[in-house]
Amino acid sequence: MAPRSSSRWDAIVVGGGAAGLSAALLLGRARRRVLVIDAGAPRNRFAEHMHGVLGSEGAAPAELLRRGRAEAAAYGVERLEGTVEDVRDAEDGLEVRVAGGAIERARALVVATGIADDLPDVPGVAERWGTGVLHCPYCHGWEVRDQRLGVLAISPMALHQARLVRQWSDRVVLFSAAIGDVDPAHLERLRARGIGVVPAEVLEVVGDGPSVRGVRTADGRVTEVDAVFTEPAPRPQDAFLRSLDLRRMEHPAGLGSLLEVDATGRTAHDRVWAVGNVVHPVANLPTAISEGAVAGGAVNGALVEEDFDLAERSA
Ligand SMILES: Cc1cc2nc3c(=O)[nH]c(=O)nc-3n(C[C@H](O)[C@H](O)[C@H](O)COP(=O)(O)OP(=O)(O)OC[C@H]3O[C@@H](n4cnc5c(N)ncnc54)[C@H](O)[C@@H]3O)c2cc1C
Repeated sequence: MAPRSSSRWDAIVVGGGAAGLSAALLLGRARRRVLVIDAGAPRNRFAEHMHGVLGSEGAAPAELLRRGRAEAAAYGVERLEGTVEDVRDAEDGLEVRVAGGAIERARALVVATGIADDLPDVPGVAERWGTGVLHCPYCHGWEVRDQRLGVLAISPMALHQARLVRQWSDRVVLFSAAIGDVDPAHLERLRARGIGVVPAEVLEVVGDGPSVRGVRTADGRVTEVDAVFTEPAPRPQDAFLRSLDLRRMEHPAGLGSLLEVDATGRTAHDRVWAVGNVVHPVANLPTAISEGAVAGGAVNGALVEEDFDLAERSA
């Protein structure tokens, strides 16, 4: 556990992934006293390489975080390994309770805790998540281009995912059992671009170690594929904010209940911002970095105004 230098921070960033470190870097450079509290389990930790990230194309996810931590630390940002369990209003700020009992106080909070991916309960999926079982063709489609690709439906979003994945290969099969009978108009559209549809229940994704070989279905067949795409259900990691009773909204595409934020990431609480996957489950790394930077600037702007309010009051 890193030593800490402040008993009251200008800002605490909960979550030290791409979004949180980006916010922390901005705030550190704005000469704010910043603590990042991080449980150390970024969402893409299952992948060996990250893609579509300008300047870091093909690098290991851990390398981006190592660099981000060092860059933020160069401006005095401190880091605490731990899990935040509760946040409450306190006099002129917020009180943040960390597992194990430590309490930290701050004038502002940036929530960047990401999501957990609830994977389909199909044998062979969890152990190949991030290697042979993928979700984002922009992140990993190039690496499996022109290969035999399966799309494992969980929700009607799979119809869109199958059409998208077709951009990377003309050998795509949709395993549709989980969404029941597919509307004939959708079927026609899929078939127009050569996408096969297997309606039988999926029993297992088979493979060797991290690699996928095929999908076994209840009709006794194994359809040979080289990789599988699926859309896990996103679970925002925001339960520790329950005491603040923040406003929430339903995601327009059915991705669940999320904290409501404005364009700068500010929630209904004027000291709490939320950025990255925890509020935008489809955000990739560049988007998460961008949201963190926007919120970092907005938090500093709010603190600047508060500094003037306090100065005027005590003048
Ligand atoms: C398998 C896989 C591969 C991916 N590949 C790519 C890719 O190639 N390119 C790309 O652009 N995107 C990729 N993504 C998406 C990418 O992972 C996300 O865009 C990115 O992680 C979002 O950043 P974040 O900071 O919002 O969340 P995260 O990176 O998930 O970071 C959240 C951090 O908060 C911590 N945390 C959670 N709860 C608490 C708590 N209560 N207290 C303290 N800390 C907490 C977590 O442990 C974690 O360290 C991939 C995703 C997956 C699942």
